[in-house]
Amino acid sequence: MKLSENKDEEDFEVISEVSIDDDKYDRQKRIVGWDQSKISNATVMVVGAGATGNELIKNLVLTGIGKLILIDYDTINISNLNRCVLFDKKSAKKQEYKVDVVKKAVKNLGETEIVALKEDLNDIDKDFYKKSDVICSCVDNIEARLQSNNYAYYYGIPFIDSGIDEFYGTVQAVYSEVKDAACMQCGVSGMDLDLMWQKYSCTGQEIESENGETIGKMATLITTTAIIGGIQSQQVIKFLLGLDYFKKTGKWNPNIGEPLIGKQLNYNGLTNSFEIINKIKNEECWVCSYKK
Ligand SMILES: [Zn+2]
Repeated sequence: MKLSENKDEEDFEVISEVSIDDDKYDRQKRIVGWDQSKISNATVMVVGAGATGNELIKNLVLTGIGKLILIDYDTINISNLNRCVLFDKKSAKKQEYKVDVVKKAVKNLGETEIVALKEDLNDIDKDFYKKSDVICSCVDNIEARLQSNNYAYYYGIPFIDSGIDEFYGTVQAVYSEVKDAACMQCGVSGMDLDLMWQKYSCTGQEIESENGETIGKMATLITTTAIIGGIQSQQVIKFLLGLDYFKKTGKWNPNIGEPLIGKQLNYNGLTNSFEIINKIKNEECWVCSYKK
């Protein structure tokens, strides 16, 4: 009898151990309010597959996002390799497309379906926007982030932007269902529009110029990028887990928290500090204040 009891006990222990450690997502499913099906059924568009894009994509694949639509027509250089976890030396030497290399690399991390688009943002099929549950921009110029903002707003899709500059970084979110919240276009002046074609650092500082020409090389650091990419991916998760609750109740699920809608989170690595500022909605903004 004693032997039989022990056997039962052992069987029970083995079953219990297997069920915990065989489920890849077990530890995140333990978070109150988590719903893995909302993650695994989600489609997220990522505009820009550079340094921040790498961090964002890595995190989203690890959490089990169903599908990622990646947009970037740029190729990899050796100088990308100090801050892009999904790139490698071989791809850089062959100057392969960033989205193609990311697509290959994430196969080792998860099951996420990757749609790799080597196109300009202007040229992509607009159906890709409509199919996305959240849109993220990880780009280094005003034009691309405004364009992503505008399409996301138009199609009513949550939008999350990030910017990095040396020890500084920003993250902000836009969602058209929150009517009194500012969008990215709200803070853009006429002068910004005139200069839109020039490249700026992602926190708005002009990149060093020479002979009147903008030099498109910014100082960036993987530690800042990882922090900002981490916060941006967390915002994606919050939208995906919290949106149904918000649509039903008009409030954000307290277990998941409110995304940074109409707000800008600023990180200052020199002072080790974060601040959140409320963005002021421009009542004349042609994107979010347009009256039909
Ligand atoms: Zn606006």
